[in-house]
Amino acid sequence: MSSNSSDSTPRFALVAHDARKDEIVEWVGRHHDRLMGVQIVSTGTTGGRIKAAHPELDVTRLKSGPLGGDQQIGAMICEAELDALIFFVDPLSPMPHDVDVKALTRLATVYDLPMACSRSTADLVVNGLLGK
Ligand code: PGA
Repeated sequence: MSSNSSDSTPRFALVAHDARKDEIVEWVGRHHDRLMGVQIVSTGTTGGRIKAAHPELDVTRLKSGPLGGDQQIGAMICEAELDALIFFVDPLSPMPHDVDVKALTRLATVYDLPMACSRSTADLVVNGLLGK
């Protein structure tokens, strides 16, 4: 499907801050069947939560976000290895790695990568890239 991933399997990065991890697990559950055909890359804790709830999904865990996982995803954006970034950001808490979040947003914009920070936008991205 993608012009980004090296093969035809789409690759999505999924990340959620702590306050929104339940929400991303629920979101993955709602799109479960279509995400079965997607390579998922996640920051460490988010990926652990998704894998625990949905062990049959193809989830690769990177470092935890505050330990560099967001930057690893940023590098994947630069290398055109992603088709979408779903990042459920916590807009109400200060983060020690706030600069990493800003950097990811900037890179997604630079490389025109579809990026969603909310459920409704994430739904649109999945529907747009994978069909309804
Ligand atoms: P985490 O990282 O999935 O390891 O909690 C997310 C983040 O804070 O960027």
